Amino acid sequence: MTKEEEKKGTHRHSCEALVDLLCDYLEGELPLDERAEIDRHMADCPPCLAFLNTYQKTAEICRALRPEDIPKEVQERLIRFLVSQGR
Ligand SMILES: [Zn+2]
Repeated sequence: MTKEEEKKGTHRHSCEALVDLLCDYLEGELPLDERAEIDRHMADCPPCLAFLNTYQKTAEICRALRPEDIPKEVQERLIRFLVSQGR
């Protein structure tokens, strides 16, 4: 197993799962261990980090919407964004 594969193997969240958690992450509502997990994923996943930076600009959405309230179409667009970044 390469070092790269080893690191991927430690990811508890897929990139898609991470999208669902970003609202809570930005609002500081996640438990510390979940935040650490996301930080770790971001450190190892430039597309997700780029996505977070983009997402932060529209973080006010999170104050009005819970992740499960985000229309499926928007979620799919987010996921397509990640896929288009190579994941
Ligand atoms: Zn990722």
